[in-house]
This record gives sequence, structure tokens and C-alpha cells, in this order.
Amino acid sequence: MDLKPIVDIFSGPIRVRGGVKTSSWGKVGSSSRISSIVSSTDETARLAEYWLGAHESLPAHVLFEDGSVQALDSFLRDHAVRVLGESVARRYHNELPFLLKVLSINPEHGLSIQAHPDLELARRLHAQAPSRYPDPCHKPEIGLPLTPVTLLYGFKARERLREMLDLFPELRAIVHEDEFDQGSELFRSAFSKLFALGRDGVPAVVTAIASRIKRDGVRCPEAEVFSRLHLQYGDSDEGLLALFLMNLVSIQPGEGIFIPANLPHAYLDGDLVECMACSDNVVRAGLTPKVKDVATLIEMVTYSSIAPVPIVPVKDEEGFLVFTTPAEEFEVGYVAQGSGSYCISTDLGARVLMSLGEKSVVRSLATGRLVELSDGEAALLPIQSGSFEVICQNSSVYRAGVAGIPNAG
Ligand SMILES: [Zn+2]
Repeated sequence: MDLKPIVDIFSGPIRVRGGVKTSSWGKVGSSSRISSIVSSTDETARLAEYWLGAHESLPAHVLFEDGSVQALDSFLRDHAVRVLGESVARRYHNELPFLLKVLSINPEHGLSIQAHPDLELARRLHAQAPSRYPDPCHKPEIGLPLTPVTLLYGFKARERLREMLDLFPELRAIVHEDEFDQGSELFRSAFSKLFALGRDGVPAVVTAIASRIKRDGVRCPEAEVFSRLHLQYGDSDEGLLALFLMNLVSIQPGEGIFIPANLPHAYLDGDLVECMACSDNVVRAGLTPKVKDVATLIEMVTYSSIAPVPIVPVKDEEGFLVFTTPAEEFEVGYVAQGSGSYCISTDLGARVLMSLGEKSVVRSLATGRLVELSDGEAALLPIQSGSFEVICQNSSVYRAGVAGIPNAG
């Protein structure tokens, strides 16, 4: 094994660059936020995701000063204790427990309706079908919009569902009036009926709703999203009906939205940063050409109405706006686009800093060693490597670390 000289690497910030994923739901060419991150000149590429973490399916790469590179997962296997500290390295098996992403979502396509299993179900699914569920761990996640972001988030309030039924009587095929006083059974039953409609049933309801919107000029946010996605998915995707059961929410830059285990959700448009536990376990049920696992989804989903409440960040002593979530694998904060200087300590844990925008400079106050980060590049700051000055030059910096084990040395 070719280990890099440890003293040099760990006496300053370590430069890291993420990887890109194309997908049918990504924005196209230079309209994608990811285009400038990866300096893409391909105007046909659907640049959907930029991954900055150590997940083995698309690890980021450490960029050494001599020009050589090493995948971040392999780098951490070599140096986990030095980077993450002993207790985090032990708890997370020498892996980085969180993953930062940038997503750029084409509104004509949207992302699939999905849910992520809790820890227990993730272990079971991984044991049963490791190729479909690659990780034995859960995937709580938080979305941090860079532009206004629209998403489907859990089930609607009953009053709003009633309004949907009044606007679209066709939905009575899956929601019965007499189920409204049956607690969470209302949504369990509606979801089960929806996925039992089958090959003929779904198109019948979808086309009836489409022609009602056209004929009666029905106007509401749900109708607008339905019409847009109907063009993309045709008549037979269950997601076109599921969206009437779910909250349709818009969140703004500066807010965060936390997605706990088993909550059905789908990002429909916009650009955002995501931070999540390092897992790629997705159970899909609609708005997707990918494999659906309807039986698992129906079994796992949380069937109560939920009011989506965006998380408002709180400024910490380092000047970062920090989003608190129940997840122990990550804590994420950011400084908004602009120019300024911040001081970051690694006393309590390793940090990953991702720069978006023109340029950020990260400099060790102990050794003076520095890295300059272009759009999308990151610096890995090992635990107890001292304090760092972060200088933003028309840039925004996202700071991620492990939340749950404060004294991680
Ligand atoms: Zn998700």
C-alpha cells in the first residue's frame, strides 16, 4: 500500500473533489447547477447529482499537492483514526458517516416518490436484496435549497384532502368518504388502493383527472404539477395520483427540510444541497422509470398527516447558520453567498467544507498551509488539526461534521 507521508497531509486542509451522476431527472447542460461545478461543456448531459463523500458507489477524491489522487473511501480506510478520531472511526467502521450532495432537478421530470428505511428495515432489506439495497444503514436527510424547491412531503392534512376530493371526484376510487374518521387508516387504505388499481385502473383515473383539468380549468398547485408530470410519465404512473394525497410544499433558500425514515417524499424541482447519512437505500413507488418496490413501500410508510415545518438555522459561534436535526451521523451549517472570513475549529471533530461560488480559501492557523477551492471543491479538516481561517470570495461554504459524538477524540 502506498501511504502518503502523514505529517504533510495532516498539517493542513486536504483538498477533495466530488463525483457527478447523470440521471433522467437532472437539469440539462449548462442549466444544471452542477455544470459549472464539473466544468461541463456537454449541453445534452442531464447533470443530476454531485456527490461529495466516501460512499463506495461514487467516492470523492483526495487531491494531493504532487498531483496524485486517491478515492476518499480508500484514503479513510488508511487514515480513519487520524481523520475522524478513534470513537467515530470505530462507530462507523472507518467510514465517513455522512454524504453531501448537490442536486439539480428538472421540473418536467421531478424525482421519484420514495422513502428511506429506518435502521432495522435497512438491515433486513440489505440482507434480502443487497444489489437493490446496497447499505445496511438508514438514510435520514436534510435538503437545503439553493433556489426555491418544490417537493412532495408526507401526507396532507385531512381538510386539504377533502378539498382535493371535491375538486377531483375521480380520487374517490382510492379515498372513501367514510374513512375520514379512521385515523391513519385513511392514508394506509388510500395508498393500498392506489397501488392495487393496476394497469387499467391507474390510466382510467389519470385520464379522467386530466380531462377534468382541461374541461373545467381547475386551478390549484396540485393540478399544475399533475399536468406537468403527466406529459412526462403518461397515463400509468401511480405517482400522478399519489401527489394528490401528499403535501405539496415550497421551501426557500435559507430554510432546511428534514426527511426522517419512512416518510414518503419527492423533490420536484429546484437546486439544493443535501446532507444525509451515508447510504443509498431508496424505496421507490412512482414518478420513476426505475424499479419500484411497492410492497416494501406500503409496509414501511408512516401513514399520518404531517405538517411540513422548514427548519430555521441558528448562527453558531463560528458564524455558520446551523440546522439541527435528530440525525446523529451529520450536522450541517453554511454561510450565505458573499465575501467574508470565518474561523473554524476541529477540536470536537473532523469537518468537511464545500465551497459553492467563485472561490474560498481555507488556511491552517497553525501551519499556514492553505488550499483554494473552486466551485464544488471541498476541504477535509482532520480532527484536532487546529483552527482554520475560511475566506469566502463571492462564495458560500457548507460545513458538515458528525453530530452525535461531540467528544470524538
Ligand atoms: Zn430521499
